[in-house]
Amino acid sequence: MFDLRLTDEQEAFTTAARKFAAERIIPVAGEYDEKGEMPLPVFRAAFDVGLMNVEIPEAYGGLGLHTLEGCLIAEELAYGCAGVATSIMCNHLGALPLMIAGTEAQKQEWLGGLTSEFGFVSYCCSEPEAGSDVAAMRTRLTKSGDGWVLTGQKRWITNGGYARFFTGFATIDPAARHKGITAFVIPRDLPGVSIGHKENKLGQRCSNTVDVIFEDVKLGPEHLLGEPGGGFAVAMETFDKSRPMIAAQCAGMIRRAMDESVAYAKERKTFGVPIAQHQAIQFMIAEMAMAYESVRLLYMKAAWEVDNGIRRTSTSAIAKAMGADLAMKCTTDAVQVFGGYGYTKEYPVEKLMRDAKLMQIYEGTSQIQRMVIAKNLLVRNG
Ligand SMILES: Cc1cc2nc3c(=O)[nH]c(=O)nc-3n(C[C@H](O)[C@H](O)[C@H](O)COP(=O)(O)OP(=O)(O)OC[C@H]3O[C@@H](n4cnc5c(N)ncnc54)[C@H](O)[C@@H]3O)c2cc1C
Repeated sequence: MFDLRLTDEQEAFTTAARKFAAERIIPVAGEYDEKGEMPLPVFRAAFDVGLMNVEIPEAYGGLGLHTLEGCLIAEELAYGCAGVATSIMCNHLGALPLMIAGTEAQKQEWLGGLTSEFGFVSYCCSEPEAGSDVAAMRTRLTKSGDGWVLTGQKRWITNGGYARFFTGFATIDPAARHKGITAFVIPRDLPGVSIGHKENKLGQRCSNTVDVIFEDVKLGPEHLLGEPGGGFAVAMETFDKSRPMIAAQCAGMIRRAMDESVAYAKERKTFGVPIAQHQAIQFMIAEMAMAYESVRLLYMKAAWEVDNGIRRTSTSAIAKAMGADLAMKCTTDAVQVFGGYGYTKEYPVEKLMRDAKLMQIYEGTSQIQRMVIAKNLLVRNG
């Protein structure tokens, strides 16, 4: 039977995350955005109440929640602040290569470390010259005795300045493109690992984004995830599993844009009546409701497929692209509903609009999602 009702447990996680967003995130979101600093007390509190690392299996100290529950939590956190949600959910992104390709010993060490002590893992895929084109990466793994030497530079690494360890990808042979890509897991404190330039961003400013540099970092075989040359498949499976969560964050941002717009439209008067009585305003708000319901259903479907072992890359891509594009539209419209005041920092909608832009860029741009969707339709037949 088709049933969209949440279970009692799912309701409980949603309520807890909503309360956390209202009490811990929204009151400080503007201040940390302005400063461009990570709200570490907020993250520590999220860890303490069990809203971080929720999908890590119970065997490694996590809650072992499904992707759907992780998405419900992501929606609520992003309602409060997308930057906070991105940094919290980035631990899931960083943990996924371990969950997909890690040995039992690697999972015990790294996933267990994440759940036993507050901290971050970052996901190191992108490079200065390789974002959309993952297979163009230049960070090298060179064989040395029983181990490897890692050299290169990663860019745009979320939480990189605070991470205790990194999962990531390097190539054993750049000419082999995707066939040379190899996944790794390494601690931050290995000799030769350093943090470079910190980005000064348009939005999601409280989420740390930095370069991570590897200079002749000596790795043992225990630092590789899966087989040499098998990393591209790990990266793609990671994205299939993480993109529903981006869509869920978009749903949260759209709902926030809608709630703020509804409240303001009832208060603000022009021509002697609340602007809520003008059809032009009503239509923008109605479209926010249409967007919210659509994106919520899309992320739920994509998460349900992941949780049921159904590998349809296009569902995750559709949810991510639709969510990001509608979050951009609705947050821009929210600024319009607020008129001149929407353009100031007195109200939260300008931040929403700045934050939304990133959703169309990271974890595959909106153009790359369309390429994935089209390829599935035209080459793989669905
Ligand atoms: C704040 C932030 C946080 C991030 N966090 C992480 C992280 O934690 N880990 C990580 O690994 N990466 C991270 N990223 C990187 C992100 O995934 C990349 O920025 C993104 O994939 C795009 O790559 P690029 O910036 O190199 O753009 P490019 O690939 O240079 O693309 C530029 C433009 O060209 C378009 N384009 C590219 N190729 C095609 C094509 N074939 N057809 C049509 N259009 C095309 C793109 O859509 C885009 O509009 C983050 C980025 C940002 C901004």
